[in-house]
Amino acid sequence: MSSATTTTELVPLELVRLDARPASKEAAIHEAVALLVAAGSVEPDFEASVLRREAVSETYLGKGVAIPHGMVEDRGLIRKTAIAILQVRDGVEWNAGQVARFVIVIAATSDAHIGVLRRLTRLIQDEDKLARLAVTDNPQDLVDALAEDPAAPVASEGDFARGFDWVIDYPSGLHARPAARWADTAKRFTARLRVRKGTETADARNLVGLLQLGIVAGDSLHVSADGPDATAALAAMQETMTSLSAGEKAQAAMAAAKSAAAPVSGWTPPGQIQSLDGVAAAPGLAIGTLHRLAEAEPQIPDRPVPLTEAAAQLHDALTRTRLQLKAVAEETARRLSEADAAIFKAHAALLDDTDLIGLAARKMVEGHGVAWSWHHAVEETAAQIASVGNALLAARAADLRDVGRRVLAEIDPELRAGGLGDLPEGAILIGTDLSPSDTASLDTTKVAGIATALGGPTSHTAILARTLGLPAMVGGGAGLLALPEGMTAIIDGSAGRLYLDPGEADLAAARAFIAADEKKRAREAEARSLPARTRDGHEVSIGANINTADQAAFAIAQGAEGVGLMRTEFLFIERGDTPDEAAQAAAYGDMAKAMGERPLIIRALDIGGDKQVAHLDLPKEDNPFLGVRGARLLLRRADLLEPQLRALYGTAKEGAKLSIMFPMITSVSEVEALRAACERIRAEIGAPQVEIGIMIEVPAAALMAATLARYVDFFSIGTNDLTQYTLAIDRQNPVLAPEADSLHPAVLRLIRATVEGAATQGRWVGVCGGIAGDPFGAALLTGLGVDELSMTPRDIPAVKARIRDSDHAELKSLAERALDCENAAEVRALDRPRIEAAA
Ligand code: PEP
Ligand code: MG
Repeated sequence: MSSATTTTELVPLELVRLDARPASKEAAIHEAVALLVAAGSVEPDFEASVLRREAVSETYLGKGVAIPHGMVEDRGLIRKTAIAILQVRDGVEWNAGQVARFVIVIAATSDAHIGVLRRLTRLIQDEDKLARLAVTDNPQDLVDALAEDPAAPVASEGDFARGFDWVIDYPSGLHARPAARWADTAKRFTARLRVRKGTETADARNLVGLLQLGIVAGDSLHVSADGPDATAALAAMQETMTSLSAGEKAQAAMAAAKSAAAPVSGWTPPGQIQSLDGVAAAPGLAIGTLHRLAEAEPQIPDRPVPLTEAAAQLHDALTRTRLQLKAVAEETARRLSEADAAIFKAHAALLDDTDLIGLAARKMVEGHGVAWSWHHAVEETAAQIASVGNALLAARAADLRDVGRRVLAEIDPELRAGGLGDLPEGAILIGTDLSPSDTASLDTTKVAGIATALGGPTSHTAILARTLGLPAMVGGGAGLLALPEGMTAIIDGSAGRLYLDPGEADLAAARAFIAADEKKRAREAEARSLPARTRDGHEVSIGANINTADQAAFAIAQGAEGVGLMRTEFLFIERGDTPDEAAQAAAYGDMAKAMGERPLIIRALDIGGDKQVAHLDLPKEDNPFLGVRGARLLLRRADLLEPQLRALYGTAKEGAKLSIMFPMITSVSEVEALRAACERIRAEIGAPQVEIGIMIEVPAAALMAATLARYVDFFSIGTNDLTQYTLAIDRQNPVLAPEADSLHPAVLRLIRATVEGAATQGRWVGVCGGIAGDPFGAALLTGLGVDELSMTPRDIPAVKARIRDSDHAELKSLAERALDCENAAEVRALDRPRIEAAA
């Protein structure tokens, strides 16, 4: 939407390429579109559309600026409005006699780019500036040039005597193509024709001038003429302007229909509603009213109380906050995972910082109030941590401030920040980000959804929203903060989109979707205890990813047939110290008891990377994901490996049915060494043999699957890490999160290689990464020949329903087509017919 889209969002720095040297116009287009594709803004086919546009339209604006763009009917290829800029210092021939030094490819789904076009057309009148921009080494200069409204306003000349008024109804506003038709019409007459919007006018013959007006749908225009054939000129202009309406509307409708057919996993509105895109953070659709969170920090009054009372107040507030954090952590672990709950545990640990409490106490002794002392102690400590200039520590400072606010709210409820106290019914919260403490007082009966400007899918907001079952979008950009309070909106957490000010028909359609979704869930829930067997009789095993025995009952109730992944590192992270052999054996024994005869795969410690265990004091690594992680650590730390293996085999000796799985395997030698350790310990304690498997998380392991299969009983593919290592995208990087798609054909090919390698030795293959819990992902994996899928328990019903509703033959052919796709978006598009059929 135009009002909420800033230039920085339209042209992020990664879409600017300095000193490009394309050999031809086609090469320039290819290079610029590649930037848009890489940024996830357009489908690769957009390039062909831009080339088609070149064949039918003039896109050279003048003064070395070319603005190639796609055909209107191909807007379905645009995922997100964006603009890519190539600075071509030596120039590239555009059309005969035209040399482009700036190639600005516009991918716009609506009129969001009109503002940029308008600045651009003004900019080309400033030749000095253009000359500077043509050689600048700073990409920001180009972004800024498009962001600022140049000083020279459009000349405001009066109307001529004769004229007519018209409200433009082109859905995409006055873009280059209709503007060129207007200019062509004006040029047929000797009369001078002026188009005025508000106080700004343009000569109708001047394409650039017309674009400068920045005309969008709904603008009121006055067209006037002066000269011998003024009457005829006005009639012709009116005819041209109005006759273009039908075509513009039809093209917009076609584009809307095409983009509606795009395979988004969320809801598609029947009408054209303004929307704001972000990153999908928590699934679901909800209708609500926008409610902005206050950004300002509360003023902390200094109200001294007697010291003994002050100490008691602080102590009570800290105790209540710890209990609160514990409750949130437990709820998060139950609904999501221990990994997701870790943030709340880390926050609780900050409250035990004796230096911090000591500092607050000193301030109270000096005669300050409790809230004031606590706030200043937190601020001083956080500032000290942040001043070190290390990103990790800066995050810790933010955590400290956040938990500090939570305590403040306990000391004095009036100091509750964020405006969460007084929510309207059905509020869609909008804000920069939602800190965990914002949620301490969140009244979930009143919140319909959450949309934040910052954050990625692993941000606190996303975790929290998933925990609470609230639809959420994160990373919506600064435009979100400009939205009016109280506006009705529809949030689609599955697609990461906020629809603004919907009409009655849209609201009715959204209500129907929500009702149908609830029904679907109910149907899935009914069938969740049935096997995941395709209509033609192929069955896959369904496991749960759970870490503690108390999650087992829920997992079984959701339809889990076993545990495909028990992440044992959480025993360590949770306790804050290293559990001894007996404590570990108790945890494994409890889980085995809870699962009874069902299969149970316990994964040996996967410490390192994203799972840091503070009390182990492991050496700091620059690249922990590429460092001593998982099996690599186990092989270097017998003090961790051996007690764990003893606890595992001890549990097996007690009669428990379990398998052992090792994470982050890269080579045969690692497997041999780990197997040798297993065998030594098993023999020492006289335990029975248990199955030993490995995780396939590193491309090397996938490619070596046939060899590795000789040494193990099974494989379980960790697609979270396999995706990270295949695509070279840190799994925690929120900026790249949308690209870290486990359905990327490169990842799928490695999964296929794993399945084929395993088959050479008759081994079975599971998948326990996140994609196993996505119904379409699960269908594809089944088609690729995977035997077991293990996932978060709440994902099981939908996955089972999807597999039960498929034919194995059809899934195999789906998998073959997916392997041939060029990118993850194409793979996801293979699900389009099903989405359309369900709509
Ligand atoms: C994985 O990498 O896909 C996996 C299941 O392991 P984790 O998420 O614990 O690293
Ligand atoms: Mg992993």
